[in-house]
Amino acid sequence: MPTPHRTDVAIIGAGPVGLFAVFECGMLKLHCHVVDVLDVQGGQCAALYPEKPIYDIPGQPRIEAAELIDRLVAQAAPFAPVYHLGQRVETLARQPDGRWLVGTSAGTEIDAAAVIVAAGVGAFGPNRPPLAGIEAYENRSVFYMVTRKEALRGKRVVVAGGGDSALDWSILLADIAAKVMVVHRRDKFRGAPDSVAKLHALAEAGKIELVTPYQLHGLEGAGGQLSAVTVATLDGEVRRLDADVLLPFFGLSMNLGPIADWGLALDKNHIAIDQATAATSVPGIFAVGDIATYPHKLKLILTGFAEAASAAHAIHPLARPGEVLHFEYSTTSGVPAA
Ligand code: FAD
Repeated sequence: MPTPHRTDVAIIGAGPVGLFAVFECGMLKLHCHVVDVLDVQGGQCAALYPEKPIYDIPGQPRIEAAELIDRLVAQAAPFAPVYHLGQRVETLARQPDGRWLVGTSAGTEIDAAAVIVAAGVGAFGPNRPPLAGIEAYENRSVFYMVTRKEALRGKRVVVAGGGDSALDWSILLADIAAKVMVVHRRDKFRGAPDSVAKLHALAEAGKIELVTPYQLHGLEGAGGQLSAVTVATLDGEVRRLDADVLLPFFGLSMNLGPIADWGLALDKNHIAIDQATAATSVPGIFAVGDIATYPHKLKLILTGFAEAASAAHAIHPLARPGEVLHFEYSTTSGVPAA
């Protein structure tokens, strides 16, 4: 067994909040190792909406999610974090000296003074529609996330679902795809009112076809390439939609995975924290971002950023016992050269 990596802080999750936690820890001279089950940094921003603009990041009137992640990675870089991507944290055990040992699915071990759980919605995965043979089409012509909308230029696209993701992508693809067909089992859509209004306007302009009230029924094609999607009403009336691509947006299944077994106090599948310090019920383990909860919690990136700063300050006395921490503005301390 290789020797565990020894560091100040092990961060579980390289989403936007985990990345900013590297920066906040770094400002207090705490070194971090970061683990993520995805192959890339960025969490939901990278996996679910890389090309969508975000409008509520302070000081950034409009920034695409992928660009925000690039900037967070660059902001963390001077503090030389070590990333362990493509591996899931499976175990978390307290050692006799009070430090924590984090173990991953790839056999990596990290020995840390403290742990920050920035695991978002947990090990997330899409809710897959129960269609016979769908596996053969997945990642070829059935996609649960769009990483590059240009790849759909000129295609006939069926979008399934009635929530925000289905609406947002239908609207974005209306000018790119050859045809956009939106399949939903009700006539009413659940998304943001503004998006619903845009969807109906595009439908009236003939840029989107609304296929309601229908549910997905079957797939036709060969070699992983779709040629049609069949849909059906509750009464069993079946329609065939010629299509190249299916985008099912039925939400994410939230699965805390191994996190549920670490003895942390949970509140409805989230980790309960003290808002002032981001401390969980277990000393030495902190939680930030979407996975952390407290009364009136707002699940926003900016909220997670503030929690990351609080966690770093609360961790400092654990990682550097006896060392006095003088609060400093970044304008005073600066950052090391990358
Ligand atoms: P995440 O981004 O979920 O990242 C968590 C990471 O942890 C993931 O990469 C996951 O793989 C990893 N992980 C989980 N468990 C493990 C494990 N056991 N081992 C290893 N890795 C693990 N927020 C805004 O503020 N403004 C917006 O405009 C906005 N728009 C959005 C639009 C959409 C379509 C969606 C889906 C979300 C939007 N959000 C927005 C929400 C925002 O993306 C989340 O609040 C943010 O991603 C939370 O960041 P996080 O780092 O806490 O978690």
